[in-house]
Amino acid sequence: LSFAHCNLPYKLLQNIESAGYEIPTPVQMQAIPAAMKGHSLLVSAETGSGKTASYLVPIVSYCADFRKKQVVTNQKKPLVMVLTPTRELCIQVEEQAKVLGKGLPFKTALVVGGDAMPKQIHRIQTGIEMIVGTPGRLIDLLTKYDIELDSISVLVIDEVDCMLQKGFREQVLQIYRALSQPQILLYSATVPVEVEKMASSLAKEMSIISV
Ligand code: AMP
Repeated sequence: LSFAHCNLPYKLLQNIESAGYEIPTPVQMQAIPAAMKGHSLLVSAETGSGKTASYLVPIVSYCADFRKKQVVTNQKKPLVMVLTPTRELCIQVEEQAKVLGKGLPFKTALVVGGDAMPKQIHRIQTGIEMIVGTPGRLIDLLTKYDIELDSISVLVIDEVDCMLQKGFREQVLQIYRALSQPQILLYSATVPVEVEKMASSLAKEMSIISV
């Protein structure tokens, strides 16, 4: 399988090439087609495996497609939410998203501690496709401001094992309950019982991918 066989927008293929990705990594070969079919996934993959692009590629493709078909174009509610355990990881995800989404309708908003909340809210209100944040700050934002999240169709939870260790379980579930049955993409380096339990509490059916 190559990126060219994944039915991706031409511009995204160009961005993948500019990023220097020639062939998909093993996790990308499995996760990209499965995510594009709309399946919820539990992916066991470590940092360095290309896991970030394995969810960003289908997400950029989905968002570009959605905006293209959207009739009312001045209402750009967020379509995707990515949760990670740390501010640093969120920043890295956003950086890769900028590379892959260049020239496409794919704007991001970072919701992490350390930046002013009104600024983050304002960014979301300007019309973006993807929110990337840490659970704590997102809950803060959701409690203080009224953000419409019914348009979120994909929820990525990266480094789930690490998130559960940090005691983010309840916060993740609270965020999930604020959404309307999104496709779930769970990523974890290890898959202990707690991660499996988390997976089954979020989605009835989940394809398991391990590389
Ligand atoms: P990650 O596992 O997401 O932390 O990615 C590790 C690194 O691999 C990142 O610097 C990516 O830019 C890079 N990368 C992701 N996919 C590919 C690919 N298909 N070919 C070459 N490098 C890649």
